[in-house]
Amino acid sequence: MTEAVAAWGATAPDAALAPMPIERRELRADDVAIHILYCGVCHSDLHTARNDWGRTRYPVVPGHEIVGRVNAIGSAVDGFAIGDAVAVGCLVDACLECPNCAEHQEQYCPGSVGTYNGRDRHDGSQTQGGYSKRVIVRDKFVLRVPDALDLSRAAPLLCAGITTWSPLRHWGVGPGKRVAVAGLGGLGHMGVKFAAALGAEVTMITTSPSKADDARSLGASHVLIATDKEAMKAATGRFDFILDTIPVAHEYQNYLRLLKASGHLVIVGAVDQMPGFHSGLLLGGRKSVAGSAIGGIKETQEMLDFCAEHGILPETETIAMADVNTAYERMEKSDVKYRFVIDMATL
Ligand code: NAP
Ligand code: ZN
Repeated sequence: MTEAVAAWGATAPDAALAPMPIERRELRADDVAIHILYCGVCHSDLHTARNDWGRTRYPVVPGHEIVGRVNAIGSAVDGFAIGDAVAVGCLVDACLECPNCAEHQEQYCPGSVGTYNGRDRHDGSQTQGGYSKRVIVRDKFVLRVPDALDLSRAAPLLCAGITTWSPLRHWGVGPGKRVAVAGLGGLGHMGVKFAAALGAEVTMITTSPSKADDARSLGASHVLIATDKEAMKAATGRFDFILDTIPVAHEYQNYLRLLKASGHLVIVGAVDQMPGFHSGLLLGGRKSVAGSAIGGIKETQEMLDFCAEHGILPETETIAMADVNTAYERMEKSDVKYRFVIDMATL
């Protein structure tokens, strides 16, 4: 039997989020049912609710930064028990057979299934996300939340955390590297914390001068104001690695100029048509532009364990479910410090 579950979702690009009960499937043998305690609010939730990427199927319940407790397990589930503190990020399934899955990069599996607006691999139904009381997820896509992490703050690690952790690790950010993070929002603030914890010298590039002090307390040694042309010019050739979290199309030529020879600009924000750039900006210094999407399940667990070991948690503002539309409006104005987390007890 399916189960009716309270949730909030959107029915059209211009509709505010509103109560929208959904049906959760009957438990399969390898499923874990999770009572959701907290869900982070990612800018991708907003892009999806508003159909910014042109591929939203309505009605949609966003939310892919989920923390909760196990409240039922399927007959074949091994290793999870009722009451365990668990989490779910942006992925709820993948083929687990292709070359990307074999390398624990399930996010690049052609058959991967998003936590919301995805298609279930068994029955083709649409997946619905974490702005809800309960979610049912294949066991291999359920993460463990280490005891040391405060459940009320951990949720943003499941997307903002892993999306910044994965590229920092892949491109070997650590001691001796000069790293810049562009955009101080949900992703950016985790990027700064992780790059600093990994031992790099970190610069925050922001359009909001008022965030400079916060950037320093998060771990940045320097702050660059993106609109200050002189300061940007003075930073030419400074960085080994730039993590670009800006959520809209933008002139990233300006950031390419900031790279040293052999440096990398990695775009994690804005799934959008980007303006072109002069190829000389790449050739004259063997620079590269790359992209990165979330991270695999294994590395997500490693990131959670690293956070527990190093005392790293997101900076969050807890909100009630009914405040989510105001939270979206504030996120659009870059007015978030630095991730909204919905307390699901308010749903
Ligand atoms: P967010 O919390 O809204 O933060 C974005 C930050 O970017 C803002 O706080 C602002 O920082 C800066 N910004 C906003 N508009 C800007 C503009 N016009 N020009 C320059 N900077 C601007 O968003 P988020 O949740 O971190 O997400 C960021 C992007 O990453 C979104 O597009 C989201 O969809 C995407 N995303 C990608 C992945 C992935 O797998 N690759 C995963 C999650 C999210 P300042 O005030 O410091 O300038
Ligand atoms: Zn996200």
